[in-house]
Amino acid sequence: MSVWSEIGDRVFTRRYAFYDQNIGAILGEDGVLIVDTRISHRQADEILADLQSLTPMPVRAVVNTHGHNDHAFGNHRFRPAPIWGHARCRRMIRDTGRAQIAKVSEAIPSLAEELAEVVLDPPDRTFDSPSTTLDFDAGGRRIELRYLGRAHTDNDIVVLVPDADVLFAGDLVENGAPPYFGDGYPMEWPATVEGLVELVTGAVVPGHGDVGDQAFVVRSMVELRTIAELAALVHEGTIALDDAVVRTAYPADTAREPLERALAQLRGELD
Ligand SMILES: [Zn+2]
Repeated sequence: MSVWSEIGDRVFTRRYAFYDQNIGAILGEDGVLIVDTRISHRQADEILADLQSLTPMPVRAVVNTHGHNDHAFGNHRFRPAPIWGHARCRRMIRDTGRAQIAKVSEAIPSLAEELAEVVLDPPDRTFDSPSTTLDFDAGGRRIELRYLGRAHTDNDIVVLVPDADVLFAGDLVENGAPPYFGDGYPMEWPATVEGLVELVTGAVVPGHGDVGDQAFVVRSMVELRTIAELAALVHEGTIALDDAVVRTAYPADTAREPLERALAQLRGELD
């Protein structure tokens, strides 16, 4: 059974079996900030119901770590709370939201009905500077949102809670499985995660999988760098793609997609 776990002073995570996803709840004096909203209204309602066991306080703010369905499609259920995200997160949900729903519905037909209910509701509080500070009005708790560069998408942000020494990393890093590269920028991703390494001093909450620490982020960075380096060798003709596939840190059956995405980026096809 899933329960809230307090990983820093009044900073909680809850791990949901669907996509092995982590949702954050940061408590202020008279309200809650939620990090990511899951894939549907029903899943968002589950977060809201589960919050009852944690606090009677209302949700005063929401952050979307990026514009993927499992992180943002429950947004509408948290209104009228303001929703924060990168400017391109807003654009991603607006421009690709329906296509994302169609794709997931095709892959998981049993979810189609639930996804059809979703009212897409992108962040209304956006930024596109490298960082912004959210003075969480529920108790004046200082929370920082940072954009570190392109990586898993072009709109990944991280959420820092300095007084609790906790960082929510979204899908910049994943624990226990290779991250999804389908919308990624594999040639820039390692440098972006290098920026993350410098920010981490305590607990790191990945979008999916176990809560980790700085060593986990460093391991992820090395794995991502291997993808970029192998792709560069394939691109320049030094090794074959099939040879690169068996030399990454990922299982061979999942290594092809990141390498092919990296090659597309090297060919200039992603800009
Ligand atoms: Zn994602």
